[in-house]
Amino acid sequence: MELLRRMGLEDRVRAAGLPGEHVSMYRGATLSAPEFVRTTLDQGVVGREVTPAPGVICSQDVLEAILFEPAREADGSRIRFGTEFVSFTENHDGISAELRDVDTGARSIVAADYLVGCDGSRSTVRAQSGIRMDGDTGLGYYVSVRFRAPLGAVVADRTSASYFLTPPARGGFMAIDNDTHWIYQYPYDPDTEDPTAFDEAHWTEIVRAAAGVADLDVSVVDTSVWRMDATLASAYRRRRVFLAGDAAHAVPPTGGHGMNLGLGDADNLAWKLAAVLSGRAGAELLDTYEAERRPIPRQVIEIALDNAGARGGYRIDDELLLTTRYGSDAVVDGPSDSSIDPGGYTPAGLPGQLLPHVQFANSIGVGSTLDLIGATFTLIHGPTDSAQWHDQVDDAARRGHPVTGRHPLVQDASDDPWDRLRRLCGLANTGALLVRPDGHIAWRADTPASGPSLGDTLATLLAKPS
Ligand SMILES: Cc1cc2nc3c(=O)[nH]c(=O)nc-3n(C[C@H](O)[C@H](O)[C@H](O)COP(=O)(O)OP(=O)(O)OC[C@H]3O[C@@H](n4cnc5c(N)ncnc54)[C@H](O)[C@@H]3O)c2cc1C
Repeated sequence: MELLRRMGLEDRVRAAGLPGEHVSMYRGATLSAPEFVRTTLDQGVVGREVTPAPGVICSQDVLEAILFEPAREADGSRIRFGTEFVSFTENHDGISAELRDVDTGARSIVAADYLVGCDGSRSTVRAQSGIRMDGDTGLGYYVSVRFRAPLGAVVADRTSASYFLTPPARGGFMAIDNDTHWIYQYPYDPDTEDPTAFDEAHWTEIVRAAAGVADLDVSVVDTSVWRMDATLASAYRRRRVFLAGDAAHAVPPTGGHGMNLGLGDADNLAWKLAAVLSGRAGAELLDTYEAERRPIPRQVIEIALDNAGARGGYRIDDELLLTTRYGSDAVVDGPSDSSIDPGGYTPAGLPGQLLPHVQFANSIGVGSTLDLIGATFTLIHGPTDSAQWHDQVDDAARRGHPVTGRHPLVQDASDDPWDRLRRLCGLANTGALLVRPDGHIAWRADTPASGPSLGDTLATLLAKPS
């Protein structure tokens, strides 16, 4: 959600998602069972105010429509639907990808500097790159049945986000709007059953039985078969080809991190590709993508597997990915390896961590330090030694480095957001934090005079010696 806030989409996603009071888990013999257990999920992040953008549960088809809008506005003519990626060839200069129009069968070629395979768990890009998936497959087999049915009144006294059915019932319901839009997850054994042969009448009976409403008016929208895997790509990059999202990692959905990981991949890779393609960074910067992103799903998979086996249920850990800390050549004095911390999020402003959230008010309204992050690197500093930091930003910008200087506005003497931020980070009053476009801290310094200049630091970070 922090990432979506940066894109200016937080409010729209929140409005499209389930209200906070629906974020509970239900257990019962059917959806309408007289006896049930409802567990409210831990909303720790909201209470502790470590983020201005707490998690929300939003159906993926709705989210994708929201994400599509800024892409269309940026350059809609380059987005092609109904187009299949067929194959690619690669040489020293770039990629040549063959595409197929699924309606007409017409083939076309697209030339590109790089190829990013975001084509899901059965990625063709991955297969053609010779990158294998390591880990366990077939941990479960399911059909997602998207349907419409008037269930709002049925769940009115038990409104939740996920409705798990207890044996002998199977599977569970996922709320899209807790009214008429729903998904039923149907688990099956591929050795004894072939649900791809089920017709709408059969699915209707299955949904009615699971809901416990014999005459429920069900309209099946679509079905999709999926397999629960716990796998990680052996590499995230092969020469000019990158993998992102489920193409790179298959995470059991027990924990709700799969798509969040994919968004994090894209956020990490996008600014690096932009910097390299604009000539502002050396190509070596792209090597930091795998170093920063691949260790994260390795840990998330373990947590999701633990959740899957947890007898007493599990909670959606909203904070988990906020703990992501990168260690790579794109961070100065960071850890040796990238990781997450299942112990919880303690904002500290250390190199590789996310910029901590500190709320402040200015003439426009109430904001967060996270709102200072832009498309370039951002140097956040206080009023002390401000002139020297400005000079350093100007010097770095003159050298062609993408950087902007910012400092949180002082509200009044007793509530200075810079002071709160620097105390949280254990930073001197004269210090500064250099934040990457993805919100992670690339470098921190206690004075403008300590260590290498901002320009030299950026040259190192961007693999672009001047
Ligand atoms: C039951 C369930 C619950 C989940 N809950 C959560 C949750 O709460 N939170 C969360 O973060 N994640 C959740 N996830 C995980 C999330 O759905 C996935 O991680 C996410 O959809 C991955 O996005 P993606 O874009 O990488 O891949 P996909 O969503 O699989 O998209 C890949 C796209 O590539 C297209 N494609 C494939 N091959 C080609 C080709 N050759 N040419 C052109 N296009 C191609 C496909 O048509 C598809 O549109 C859940 C998953 C499941 C199954």
